[in-house]
Amino acid sequence: MSKYLRPEFRDLDSYVPGEQPTGRSFIKLNTNESPFPPSPKATEAAAQAASGLNLYCDPDNRELTKTMADYFGVPAECVLMTNGSDEILNFAFITFCHSSCPAVFADITYGFYKVFANVNGVPYETIPLRSDMTLDYRDYLGINKTIFIANPNAPTGLAISTGEVEEILKSNPDNAVIIDEAYVDFGGESCVPLTQKYDNLLVTQTFSKSRSMAGARLGMGIGSKKLIADLNTVKFSINPYNVNSMTGAAGIAAIKDDEYTRRNCAVITENREYTTEQLRKLGFELNNSSTNFVFAKHPKISGEDVYLRLREKGILVRHFTPDNIKDYNRISIGTREQMDALISVLREITEEIK
Ligand code: PMP
Repeated sequence: MSKYLRPEFRDLDSYVPGEQPTGRSFIKLNTNESPFPPSPKATEAAAQAASGLNLYCDPDNRELTKTMADYFGVPAECVLMTNGSDEILNFAFITFCHSSCPAVFADITYGFYKVFANVNGVPYETIPLRSDMTLDYRDYLGINKTIFIANPNAPTGLAISTGEVEEILKSNPDNAVIIDEAYVDFGGESCVPLTQKYDNLLVTQTFSKSRSMAGARLGMGIGSKKLIADLNTVKFSINPYNVNSMTGAAGIAAIKDDEYTRRNCAVITENREYTTEQLRKLGFELNNSSTNFVFAKHPKISGEDVYLRLREKGILVRHFTPDNIKDYNRISIGTREQMDALISVLREITEEIK
């Protein structure tokens, strides 16, 4: 630590991303990426855009924003494109949270929320999930705080209904409510249509999961015109050229090839159901996930042990250390072959303890 560091950052716990290994090749089931490459149309569009990299990209991302707005059936002024959905989430913390309006989110949810709050000097509170890891929407009614809900939630994989979100929106008219839909394409119900009815709603989505573009860094926020204008003021105060030309071009092509995304999502969903069934047969306990991952624990083997044994055999999954989830591993859903490799190692491990 240098002596120049801002004092309030001395104890900052930054976000720890899942491992991106180099060297040894792993079956990578630890960061909820898609096992499929981006649409060939997206890679071709990115390659073509490369020759224009001498110019700055469009700071308003007009073509991309319009394409996305048409896709969702909302006006272009209701959409803001960002560098991954992490960026729009960070903008939301900066824009809508302050000392008299803390952020609030579940005790078990996306770990970055806490980090965004801390780095921006915003107070936050957490609300416990129920013991079965479901979120009780009634805990969020009329709380007068800026609410962040991952729906479906990570790492639990569980979703609440749009009707429940609507109750939260109605009862918090003076506060922004952010619904993080990073995993919605794998089985959740999107709240995007509600953005045209409730001016306190911001929905965030990403190209990192269902659209196979995690490395391109593309995300977005959809909300009322006024919310998006506020977020744009912050964006233009931090990073006007936040979506690079290659990513922007790839994003437009990917949306136009939605059929490709739908097909991949159907395969992932099918592989998730298969994996869930197989893991249950091996004695693992897991919920019915609505995402591209499952969150599983075994009553007789510690979460860390499962993680380490899989790693030894060349399979990476995500293990978290906080006490309330340390028994679990979050396992991304890959191809059928990858899931069979996982199941076969887990079978060996569970047979040893018999
Ligand atoms: N929200 C949730 C719930 C996530 O799990 C992730 C992925 N780590 C993100 C947002 C951010 O994803 P990205 O920045 O790649 O869009």
